[in-house]
Amino acid sequence: MGRRDVLLLDKAELTSGSTWHAAGLVGQLRSHRNLTRMLTYSVELYEMLGDETDLCTGGKQSGCLYLASTADRMCELKKAASTARTFGLEMHSISPREALDLFPLLVIDDLAGAAFMPTDGEADPAGIAMALIKGTRNRGCKVREHTLVTGFQREGRSIAFAYLPVEQASRIGGFEIEVYRELHPVPLRPQRQFVDPGREKLPARAR
Ligand SMILES: Cc1cc2nc3c(=O)[nH]c(=O)nc-3n(C[C@H](O)[C@H](O)[C@H](O)COP(=O)(O)OP(=O)(O)OC[C@H]3O[C@@H](n4cnc5c(N)ncnc54)[C@H](O)[C@@H]3O)c2cc1C
Repeated sequence: MGRRDVLLLDKAELTSGSTWHAAGLVGQLRSHRNLTRMLTYSVELYEMLGDETDLCTGGKQSGCLYLASTADRMCELKKAASTARTFGLEMHSISPREALDLFPLLVIDDLAGAAFMPTDGEADPAGIAMALIKGTRNRGCKVREHTLVTGFQREGRSIAFAYLPVEQASRIGGFEIEVYRELHPVPLRPQRQFVDPGREKLPARAR
């Protein structure tokens, strides 16, 4: 995105949110093309980040096995495999025996089949977050932990400002902080009118 005047605020410590809980599985295939492209890019990014920042992201392309215990599920996996290929991802449908070769602890008695995506894998969520922070700091991003964002203000069709409590604001200069202007303008939908056909608008409290 190319922005360098970025200030990242966190009310607690970095990685103390959901990132702290994440298992670290890195899967790429999603039903939406753009999500899949984003996740595929993430896999490349995690590799680059390690080299660039000298921090360990724990990225490993150990592959992912998708199991099917019914013929219907197997059909779904075959469809997923062909979708993956249209996104440029390698994914093969395989037999239960081939799945067992890949993961010898598997019980295959009731397995209809499986699919394997070799470029999926795992990573260390906190390691990735720290490498991302180091990479962005190197490019001029500033980070303030223990700084609560208390609200946003709508400006036209974007959400533009975040305010901090006075005591915290004074610590970082006492000014209002622009968070999302231009970078992430959030389009706001026009207020929805709930109209009962053939009648007046519903009373305000029912909207
Ligand atoms: C149990 C579990 C397992 C998961 N496993 C996986 C997995 O295997 N693979 C995977 O890809 N994803 C997984 N996820 C999802 C993944 O953890 C999240 O998608 C990811 O961590 C989100 O990162 P984030 O930076 O957007 O949010 P967070 O890590 O939640 O960061 C949000 C930050 O915002 C700060 N904050 C909140 N409110 C304010 C405020 N008002 N002012 C200032 N700061 C504020 C918080 O302190 C926090 O540090 C898992 C999630 C959970 C819960």
